[in-house]
Amino acid sequence: MKFAFRTLIIFVLASLLIQSCASVPTPLIPTPVIPTLEMPTATKPVVQDPPTLVPATATLAPSPMPASTATSAPTSRLNPDPIRETPASLMLHRKNAGFDAVQFVRDFIGVLKQTDLQVTTYRQLAKTPELSVVKKGKLFIFSIDDIYLRYPIDPSVKEMIGLLLGAGYPAVLGVITDGSSAYPETVDTLRTLQGLGWEIASHSDTHRNLADVEKMAPKSVYPEIKASLDKLEAALGLRPITLILPEGQMTRGDQQIKRSGVLWVVGINGGTRYDSRAAYYYVGREGPDGDAQNTLAIMLKRFSP
Ligand SMILES: [Zn+2]
Repeated sequence: MKFAFRTLIIFVLASLLIQSCASVPTPLIPTPVIPTLEMPTATKPVVQDPPTLVPATATLAPSPMPASTATSAPTSRLNPDPIRETPASLMLHRKNAGFDAVQFVRDFIGVLKQTDLQVTTYRQLAKTPELSVVKKGKLFIFSIDDIYLRYPIDPSVKEMIGLLLGAGYPAVLGVITDGSSAYPETVDTLRTLQGLGWEIASHSDTHRNLADVEKMAPKSVYPEIKASLDKLEAALGLRPITLILPEGQMTRGDQQIKRSGVLWVVGINGGTRYDSRAAYYYVGREGPDGDAQNTLAIMLKRFSP
């Protein structure tokens, strides 16, 4: 499986590289240029670019925005509403006895390809906040939770990653950093994906429900988040800006979250809108519900009514 997964990544990279070499002119990442748009800049953390580990494929990162949309609907962008729609956001976990997450992802990709939704990540959206205005209601985020930095990645999660890579979709991976070691192959995979525009998010250090942590010891929330950010930064060279809440449970007080410096706090319930002027954004997600078609319909109803 290890060999097969590496082979898959190499194959995908190689075929993408061939495509990029073959196409003339070479597609560059379109830089959104919207001169009249003034975004609130406040005190947001600086969003670093992930280190590009595979320079030849840098032009293959998901396009932030098709050039054709830059000229459409100019008036709505002059004074964009600071309240933004959360991208329809899908929460995935490894395959289990009752649910074949791999087949679900395969089906879901097929369904998503029929739509005009653009797949992005929270980090990409922080880097180009105009996306939430230009592509209002047309953004989509995949996230896969419960990847442990210290263990091999579950084979079914590897399969899902391979399917998304093959489809050209980036995803957000929620990583638990429990313990003091990091599994080399897991670090390699995460670094490679990060270099391809995928986002590595904190899923806390010990995977404890932060609402419970807060009840027992309110000041323990910050160290729990900080430990995971520190470990991921040490392993991957980039500090996450997104926290995927264990069990989706948000804390009541926000000082501990603010102190951690994360920008995106990802739960399950609520969070279909966020205030782009806030210190951090709480956003919700939806898990699989029935088949892929049904799940997407539920998600679009919830996030893009
Ligand atoms: Zn989890």
